[in-house]
Amino acid sequence: MSIVMKFGGTSVADAAALENVARIVAAHRQHSPVVVVSAMSGVTDALLASVAIASEGRLDEAISSLKETFRRHHCAAQQLLAHTAKDFEDYLDTAAVQIGQLLKRNAVETSSRRATQDAIVSFGELLSSRLLAYLLNERSVNARQVDPRDCIITNDEHTCAVPFLAETFAKSQRSSLPLIEENVVPVVGGFVGATSKGDTTTLGRGGSDYTAALLGAALRCDEIQIWTDVTGVLTADPRVVPNAQTVERLSYGEAAELAYFGAKVLHPKTIQPAIEDRIPVRICNSREPDARGTLVGPQTEASPRTIKAIAHRTGVTTVQITSARMLGAYGFLRALFEVFDRHRTVVDVVTTSEVSVSLSLDDASSLPAIVEELEQLGTVRVEKGRAIICVVGEGLRGTPGIAARVFSTISDINVTLISQGASSVNFTFAIEESRVAEAVNRLHDVFFQN
Ligand code: ADP
Ligand code: ASP
Ligand code: MG
Repeated sequence: MSIVMKFGGTSVADAAALENVARIVAAHRQHSPVVVVSAMSGVTDALLASVAIASEGRLDEAISSLKETFRRHHCAAQQLLAHTAKDFEDYLDTAAVQIGQLLKRNAVETSSRRATQDAIVSFGELLSSRLLAYLLNERSVNARQVDPRDCIITNDEHTCAVPFLAETFAKSQRSSLPLIEENVVPVVGGFVGATSKGDTTTLGRGGSDYTAALLGAALRCDEIQIWTDVTGVLTADPRVVPNAQTVERLSYGEAAELAYFGAKVLHPKTIQPAIEDRIPVRICNSREPDARGTLVGPQTEASPRTIKAIAHRTGVTTVQITSARMLGAYGFLRALFEVFDRHRTVVDVVTTSEVSVSLSLDDASSLPAIVEELEQLGTVRVEKGRAIICVVGEGLRGTPGIAARVFSTISDINVTLISQGASSVNFTFAIEESRVAEAVNRLHDVFFQN
């Protein structure tokens, strides 16, 4: 048996959390674990904030804004490490100098800012993985930090790079397998990769889950474990529905839809690498290590309740394009989607009628330019401040009455953009953002109480 164990930011937030992680890894020692780790919670945000300050030309302020970040690492190392504390301090000092140089570069070289930003934020994961590797060794688990840039090889789309699978698999095997054979636990910073030229890239926010899945597939491991601060995937976002419960099992399709439509507990791309080799993905709670959490796998069983979980996402913009030219004409949809393509904007949910197309966007930063082009095709209506709700369950397609139950539960709330995805495990629609908490709680009561 071999496993990948990924620990998120809150699981490594301070000395006590790191000590707990070391205990969990030690308890799985016999499963030849590969450990993937996020930056300490808040560190990626702090690094990004320093980049933003430097971009405004306030270099000294940018550098001093990171004092607290370095102090947190320093404190954790002092509390945890006996004979390798000095080694970690040296690594931390070197990192601080390099970050300072990069922030300076960011202030002057405006053309390569995204590349510089990636190089700066990568230190979050480089520091946490180095610290955890030292800690494991001090707790009698042979471990070594592996540089994620020697594993995850990506294109050069900085801040949201896409991995090249063949190269990533080959490199990951080369850097990790010899260690595993020697009974050494590789400790890899998540979220970070490199282009084939060696430039540092990152996989998008929350991307450490994706790193874990890529390594799991590369090493053909038996289970990918995502250790976080909740006991698995819950029936709804616990920040909105406090009485949400753990879902014991999900199919790959269900988990992918939930992650895509807002269940932050899994990065949306995590499931992809697991599917081909049918590797189970388990979501576990670092604070409750004996709980079974959620197991995501190839099985596609329906639950007696049909619906297994509800996800939601806020900050959505919907766009409706109406044009009589659409009627019976070909080429219209192509022209329409080419507009989004040109502006590199992802379209999430799409519905069409005879003379109109409605769609939703998560990132509306290029919206003014998009609307200007769309207006050549028809009348455009934009609605900001929308939310998407997605109910998920394998039995959804064959179960009559689900839509009726959903809509009667929230009959006083205006629903648009209704879509049942081709995968048939989800049912998705948009509502006004201000009513999303109320809607999700009411749906949760109807589908999950009793
Ligand atoms: P990590 O830092 O471990 O990657 P994240 O903050 O990225 O953790 O993801 C875990 C959080 O996801 C939970 O604390 C919870 O607030 C949120 N979340 C949203 N929807 C769900 C859901 N359906 N099930 C579980 N957690 C969810
Ligand atoms: N540290 C990165 C972030 O905060 C990646 C991750 O935690 O998964 O987005
Ligand atoms: Mg996460």
